[in-house]
Amino acid sequence: MNYLLIALFSLAAVASDFPNDPVLAKLLSIDSDSAIKGPAYSKIVEELKSLEESYGDFAQVITFGQTVDGKPLSLIKIAKKSITSNQAIYIGGSIHGNEYLNIEDRLPRWFLEQTANSGTISTYLEQGGVIYIAPILNPDGYDRRERENRNGVDLNRDYTVVKANVEGFKEIETRSLFEYLSRDLGSVQLKVAMDYHCCIGALLYPWSFTGPVLSNADKEKHLLIASIMQSTIGPGVKAGTTPVILGYSAKGTSKDFYYEHFGALGFTYEGRKGKEDKFFEEHTSMWEGIIKTLSGSRLIN
Ligand SMILES: [Zn+2]
Repeated sequence: MNYLLIALFSLAAVASDFPNDPVLAKLLSIDSDSAIKGPAYSKIVEELKSLEESYGDFAQVITFGQTVDGKPLSLIKIAKKSITSNQAIYIGGSIHGNEYLNIEDRLPRWFLEQTANSGTISTYLEQGGVIYIAPILNPDGYDRRERENRNGVDLNRDYTVVKANVEGFKEIETRSLFEYLSRDLGSVQLKVAMDYHCCIGALLYPWSFTGPVLSNADKEKHLLIASIMQSTIGPGVKAGTTPVILGYSAKGTSKDFYYEHFGALGFTYEGRKGKEDKFFEEHTSMWEGIIKTLSGSRLIN
């Protein structure tokens, strides 16, 4: 028997009891480095700004705060500026700085290119849909290839989740995002929120901790998105909750927060180590499928 595996399983069991212990969290996440390298964070922000210049009717780069080290926190908001918004999706990447997939930073250009054609994405935007993409949520960690932010905090345990008794948003990165989204969304309904991570090869939905389960109706909606994911990216990518797929309990995660606070379908997409970047077209097909469903289906309302 593999002693390392036994040790990891024991740690997972202990970690459910002490989910906020940073030493255990670090040990458990030892293999989460995506092995996919990206450009410096400043280059990713430059790319967003050049998109804003090229697609002025649809693209707006927002600096919603500053990291612990003073880097700008940037996201791109894609919406048809001349019409009133009514629903939104949110996509985030690298909240764990070493889990960059090179999907999240290419999606803004792809979405904007679609505005030149008639099709699912144009229709969604014409009908008042909004797409927020924050490619790198933890720029300090990303540039240093570290999971945590510069205070040594796992930001994906720093979201307020009432059901989990977690009072979050103690860190500047997560708090700035929460404040911006709350302000900018106003009465616009956030429908789907997904953060990109690595390296399980799975789509995770709430709840991230043991105990509560989704109502059947809400579980069905999450599974509908999971089925779109599996039909585009592949049936080999599993779908389930963190305790079921990963075997441990995590409190204060973004997907639980987006689900509980905004009523959105909340997800963590766990990419595959060293190769998720080869599947960009599959990801764009998934988003096209999700947005088509949001535009045309009564299943999600
Ligand atoms: Zn992660």
